[in-house]
Amino acid sequence: MAAKKKLCDVKDCSNSTKKTVSREQAGTAIKQANMTLDIRDKVNKVHLCADHYRKIKKQLKKDRQIERLRWG
Ligand SMILES: [Zn+2]
Repeated sequence: MAAKKKLCDVKDCSNSTKKTVSREQAGTAIKQANMTLDIRDKVNKVHLCADHYRKIKKQLKKDRQIERLRWG
């Protein structure tokens, strides 16, 4: 069992990861939620604990709606 438990990528958060989202997808939502990520620039996946995922979930949905309006 070499698999390490991934921790939430939000700064100062040490909960284990519940959801993984693409950085591109989560970037705006995370900014809107005033969260700071503690990841390297090259990383394109963001690991979030359940609490933090819940915080950006609403924003992710909003973004998707805007996209639909733009292309619909
Ligand atoms: Zn977290």
